[in-house]
Formats: sequence, structure tokens, C-alpha cells
Amino acid sequence: MSVVQLSQTYEPDQRAIDIVRAADILLLAGISGAGKDTIQKQLLQKDGYHRIVTHTTRQPRENNGTMEQDGREYHFVSFEQMQDLLERHQLIEVNQYGVNFYGTSVTEFETAKNMKKIAIGDIDVNGVEVFRRIASDNVRALFLIPPDYATWRQRLSSRYQTDQEFKAEYPARRATAIQELEHALSVPYYHFIINDDLARAVRVTDEIAHRKDMFNQHDDEARLKARELLASIKSDQPNVTQLK
Ligand code: 5GP
Repeated sequence: MSVVQLSQTYEPDQRAIDIVRAADILLLAGISGAGKDTIQKQLLQKDGYHRIVTHTTRQPRENNGTMEQDGREYHFVSFEQMQDLLERHQLIEVNQYGVNFYGTSVTEFETAKNMKKIAIGDIDVNGVEVFRRIASDNVRALFLIPPDYATWRQRLSSRYQTDQEFKAEYPARRATAIQELEHALSVPYYHFIINDDLARAVRVTDEIAHRKDMFNQHDDEARLKARELLASIKSDQPNVTQLK
């Protein structure tokens, strides 16, 4: 079977499920430009977190002037290697994103558990859905959002060299953001985090990772902001509501 066919029907085996169920897991999803990466990096500077390095078939790229490294941002693999990982059931889940494949390996969770750390990773909403399906009790799912539409557009555009480049890619970014936000709002398990102030967003994320009660009033407020943001992106109107 090809990697495309394998990925479409992939299910983790019982060994993988048992390992995930024994781990403590925090998954960060969110629209691109929300700051997932920065929040994750800050949390990793604290004790108690182990980063899940996932596998991808895409090529390493430059982020803010720094080239990605194998084993640090991702395990960069060939399509044949991805196929082999799937055939040997070394992954929990796999997702196709554009022409490339991304997958989380079982080993990462074994390591986190042995070190008694929270496994933290940045994956897309399809991946989060698989984790929640197989281990809802020990997987906390966060969805990061920028404070408002105008800030999001500005943060996104700053990643491009020219305005022309940004405008050419914006429709695809916008479509993905709408899809991901709609998905996240349609399921009950996401904690929405508004990244208006980095230190606050890191603190809230850390609290959610450790707190016993699953949801509270702040989660409801953040969910409301996520709905407003979705409406603004859909109508492409800057959101004028001021956030606390
Ligand atoms: P990028 O190519 O921009 O690094 O990542 C593209 C998307 O794939 C991001 O939304 C990222 O969170 C997601 N991603 C990275 N690794 C995995 C993985 O192992 N599984 C899934 N489902 N998504 C992943």
C-alpha cells in the first residue's frame, strides 16, 4: 500500500493505545500566527515538560532566520521512511497536510512517561481528535487564538517579505483558519487560549496542564472570543471588541 492509502485508514495498535493512555499529554493546536511555537518554547524552559518531536516528510525550512534541525523541530523523514513507520505501527496518528505527511511516534510518549513529565506537542486538529478518541482522560487539548482579527492579519503579514507575497497566500491561510476554528468550536474538549499577552498565555496554559477541574468560566469567555474571531475572519472585518 502507498503512504497515501496507509494514512487514510491508519489506526494505532493496542500497544500504542496503552502507551498513550499511561502518559500525561498536553496538545497545542491553533490557527497559524497564534503563537503556538513561542508558547511551547517557553513552557519547555520550565521543569516538567517533554517535547513531542513529530515526524514529517516535508523539507526543513528557515524560521525567523534559523534553519530547522532534524530531531529538534521535527524528525525529517522520506516518504519511504514514513511508509515504514506506518507499516510497523510506530505512530499514534498520521495526517496529510498539503502534499506532506505528519505523524506522532509512540516512543515520544514512552520517554515522557519514564521521565514523569507532561508530553507537550503542537499538532493539528485532526491529530488531536485521534488522541482524544483513544485517551480522553489524559489528553488536554488547547486551541490558541490571536487576540483579534487585525492582530492576526498583522502577525501573519509580518512573516512575508512583501505585501504581494502575503496577499497571494492569504486566501489559503484564511480558509485553513476558518476550517480549524470551526472544527475546534464544534467539539467540547478544547480550552481556548487568547494569546494577547505572552506571559499570561504561558501561565494559563501551564495552569490548565496542572489543574484538576477540567473547565471553568474563563474557558467559556475564551470560547466566546474564538466565535467572534471566526465571524471576523469570515467577514474579513477587523474585530473591534477589546479583550481583557
Ligand atoms: P508545519 O509544516 O507548518 O510545521 O506544520 C503543519 C501542520 O502540521 C501544523 O498545524 C502542525 O501543528 C501540524 N503537525 C505537526 N506534526 C504533526 C503530527 O505529528 N500530527 C498531526 N496531526 N499534525 C502535525
